[in-house]
Amino acid sequence: MQALSFNDLKDKVCVITGGAGVLGTAMVKAIASVGTKIAIADINKEVADKVAAEIAADSGTEVIGVAANVLDKESLEFAKTEINKRLGPIDILINGAGGNSPQATTKVETITEDNIDNLEDTFYGLQMEGFDKVFALNFTGTLLPTMVFTRDMLESRKGVVLNVSSMNSYKPLTKIPAYSAAKASINNFTEWLSVHLAKVGIRVNAIAPGFFITHQNRFLVMDEKTGNYSPRGQKIVDNTPMGKFGEPEDLQGATLFLISDVSNFITGIVIPVDGGYSAFGGV
Ligand code: NAD
Repeated sequence: MQALSFNDLKDKVCVITGGAGVLGTAMVKAIASVGTKIAIADINKEVADKVAAEIAADSGTEVIGVAANVLDKESLEFAKTEINKRLGPIDILINGAGGNSPQATTKVETITEDNIDNLEDTFYGLQMEGFDKVFALNFTGTLLPTMVFTRDMLESRKGVVLNVSSMNSYKPLTKIPAYSAAKASINNFTEWLSVHLAKVGIRVNAIAPGFFITHQNRFLVMDEKTGNYSPRGQKIVDNTPMGKFGEPEDLQGATLFLISDVSNFITGIVIPVDGGYSAFGGV
């Protein structure tokens, strides 16, 4: 009897947007380890090239960096042409680009009698520019790459899309309404697209990472001065039954599972990778 494996992923071509980021890099390492050719499509071409070169050297797999802005269809079309030329037709897409910004973050968690005279720090002080940017990066930034990078899958009648959601998609965290709404829309879109593409052999799923300390949230969860968790960071740990932040490598198993044929009959789902956070009622 043959052991179950991820061998089906060998020599396939995977594009990962935002693949030069903290979580993206861990995902690229996992995928390269099973011999999948990878294009890291990132707005930061310099870091994408650097990460690609390091992982290619380590794994012996072909990994390239490609410049792409997930909010610009033309730049994605350019990236696709380059990927097709250098690696071949695309089999797998991971929509990893995303994130929050201080511009779309309220300064206080809730409005109380103590701060009601300072609405600048609340929902009412949010600037539409910041709100729109964060919503677009997380939602449109998944929609457009999916339109562009799944075309080869349509032709071959086989392929996989993996979106990156968040705990905020189930229950929004305080302070970050644009990010939360956008990630909720990712879960909804994952279901919608999975139905739309099911009969042409393309599966669409998502992972919902719990809490990992990365560039986009460090300012919220760490106290810069002391190097300890901020009160918010401590609250996250206290509400994660496993009692810690995740390590980027914790995403690797769920990623390989969902992009490989071992999950052939699975489409339209979101898998939390969260140390139990989403299962915990808080008491
Ligand atoms: P990160 O900031 O380390 O990486 C994001 C990457 O996206 C960067 O390489 C950046 O250059 C790239 N990027 C930004 N804008 C882009 C654009 N317009 N076009 C192309 N690339 C662009 O972030 P991360 O923490 O590794 O997050 C990766 C994904 O995981 C995001 O979707 C994020 O929302 C999600 N997520 C993160 C956490 C966490 O705890 N860090 C939790 C849940 C979900």
